[in-house]
Amino acid sequence: MRKNIVAGNWKMNKTFSEGLALATELNAALADSSLNCDVVIGTPFIHLASVAAAIDTTKIGVAAQNCADHESGAYTGEISASMVKSTGAEYVILGHSERRAYYGETAAKLKVKTELALKNGLTPIFCIGEVLEERESGVFFDVVKSQIVDSLFELSAEDFSKIVLAYEPVWAIGTGKTASAAQAQEIHAFIRKTLVDKYGKEIADNTSILYGGSCNAANAKELFSNPDVDGGLIGGASLKVADFKAIIDAF
Ligand code: PEP
Repeated sequence: MRKNIVAGNWKMNKTFSEGLALATELNAALADSSLNCDVVIGTPFIHLASVAAAIDTTKIGVAAQNCADHESGAYTGEISASMVKSTGAEYVILGHSERRAYYGETAAKLKVKTELALKNGLTPIFCIGEVLEERESGVFFDVVKSQIVDSLFELSAEDFSKIVLAYEPVWAIGTGKTASAAQAQEIHAFIRKTLVDKYGKEIADNTSILYGGSCNAANAKELFSNPDVDGGLIGGASLKVADFKAIIDAF
């Protein structure tokens, strides 16, 4: 059966020492708890190796927030999937709406990044989601479906079964405006149906589909209680241990 996952996305926050302190504090806070979900923290690249060495990675997985669309070579400033993997990270967040909007990440580029992540043994947390106008005009089902089809549907069933999806309506990210539990369930069920149609019921049922967008301690329980919401991708509320732990404890 699919896993419940609470994944933090630190974005471009925390200096090296602050990030290490945050990860260490989270590790201590979770040490004695038996968890009802997998926990992942998505740190900036520079933190990955030190965070992975400082925490119990059997309890907290480590994620990069991006990787390159090339294997290696003359791509100044880029970090490859194999480099990410070599730090001890097991996950990579791909296709976050901020990367799509500010760094021109196209479906084609994300397809390559996903393939390289999988080839190098990383679990992609693949983000999809519509902007406000697409929600309001009702085209959001088509938008989300295209994001999945265009980047992921050439994967073999075996590779697809390693993907975690994160539905993140762009209008809810960092805005304090959360999708209602009913809105989240509606689109998550649609996403799962899209997976059933392509890969069959077993793979669709085993795919974790996370919700992201102003998820916090106050709304996590209601969001996660939906049958097709398998956890959350958490931005702002992952930067404080008490807030993040409260979301983890919603399971
Ligand atoms: C995110 O960026 O993935 C996110 C969900 O951010 P926030 O929780 O701050 O809305």
